Amino acid sequence: MIKNFLKLFFVFSLIMVFIVGTAYADEQANISQLVSEAEIYFMKGEYAKSIKIYDQILETAPDSETYTMKGIALHNLRFQSTLAHQAQEIMGKYELTATNKWAMIEFYKALEIDQNDVKALNGMGLGFGSFGEYEEAKKYFKKALKIDPNNIISQNYINHLEKIEKKFPYEPTEKPAFLEKIEENKIPLWIKNNAAWWTQDKISDTDFVQGIEYLVQKKIINPVVSDTVRTTNTENTDVIPNWVRNNAKWWSAGLISDEEFLSAIGYLIENGLIILTGEKNSEVAKKETERIAWNFEQYLINLEKKIKDEGKYIEYPNPSAEVIKKYVRDYQKYNYDGYLDTNENFPNREVTFIDDVYYVEYLYHVADQPASLPQDHVSTLQRSFDFWEAQEWYNVDDGKTAKVKFTESNTRSGANVWITWVVRNLGENVLGHAQLGKGVVEVALGGFGCDGSFQLYTIDTVEKVMTHELGHSLGLHHVNNPNSIMYPTLNPDFSYCLLN
Ligand SMILES: [Zn+2]
Repeated sequence: MIKNFLKLFFVFSLIMVFIVGTAYADEQANISQLVSEAEIYFMKGEYAKSIKIYDQILETAPDSETYTMKGIALHNLRFQSTLAHQAQEIMGKYELTATNKWAMIEFYKALEIDQNDVKALNGMGLGFGSFGEYEEAKKYFKKALKIDPNNIISQNYINHLEKIEKKFPYEPTEKPAFLEKIEENKIPLWIKNNAAWWTQDKISDTDFVQGIEYLVQKKIINPVVSDTVRTTNTENTDVIPNWVRNNAKWWSAGLISDEEFLSAIGYLIENGLIILTGEKNSEVAKKETERIAWNFEQYLINLEKKIKDEGKYIEYPNPSAEVIKKYVRDYQKYNYDGYLDTNENFPNREVTFIDDVYYVEYLYHVADQPASLPQDHVSTLQRSFDFWEAQEWYNVDDGKTAKVKFTESNTRSGANVWITWVVRNLGENVLGHAQLGKGVVEVALGGFGCDGSFQLYTIDTVEKVMTHELGHSLGLHHVNNPNSIMYPTLNPDFSYCLLN
């Protein structure tokens, strides 16, 4: 048997602290408290409860992680394959038939704050995929891969979407041009207006700096401010040199590019000529985010309408839910738990002694599996066999060498071991199970430990568990060395879980 550790939640990086006051620290402590409360519900699959807490956090401290978590919670809300199925719970405006749309709006907001948020990018990919817009979905997964080239989630989704596109050719919906334009424009229009007004003395330095603060908050400019700059310049906070005014004037008149303006501003901040207070103007940021998200929502409403009008078939991009359904539907066919009580009915393995070497031959039978599983584990089985066949064995009684060999059995009844991949409850956090010496070897294909809904493990995780369980089948017990395949615990990886 092998157990997993529940996925530890990623630690939320809290907002950078520029000004530390008691009230501020209290608020941070309160937010951390709320975040952990939300996580507990989330991991139990009680998404509706976690969403209420995320809303509370977003009221005071909107950040990309919270938007992303809320997005995932909304996306998962409609699934039957969760630890706590809550289909009957209607969440105010989040009607269950439209949770994908609402989830995508949250991912969109997260990306408004941090365009490099890989989880939010993957969330957008999953969202577009769930609308049957596979091409648009792939764009987001590819963007995520660009930022994090080793992200197996993005890669797995791209691979799966390509299979879907081949199987179900479709006509992609064109993204509205105005939306492309808004998204391309990294600097919101109001900042440009601010800059123009500021050069005409219609607004104060403080108002202008507020716009700059917004650009820094959204990581549109990433100035590196040294502590010396920050402390030595605190006295002349409202002095902005005149040439900056010229710069802003040219930019607002379109004489210099966004990039040139941004790099000039970045230079000024880094050299202490513009002092940022670090205060978050959440009102301005929130309004701007809401405004852009509204435009995005109109686009999604059109997608929803199109699906309805055309009766479009959509293959859901995460195959985990399909897999669990197949296994539940034909439970008896794929699960051998009826044979687990005793292995007496299994024939004994053959041992021959030739030229001073014991040859232990295992006849195995691979159990039936549902057709067209998204991942092929049978092909990795050979690697598990190879691993054990390559080991040096000794007979404890006479010290002579032994060799094991796995051979496929022609009949199920003639096999010493039955190998099967299952989706059933093996016990809390249990990944696999095997009988000593002979009998059933079963390995779980997925579990609930990532985000509270059923998620498939990676091929690699399943292969490791299979090798471990085959070890038991050969008669081996657990060892204390964490590097050994017979170590009793393993932290599993998931193929399609956004929180992997
Ligand atoms: Zn074990």
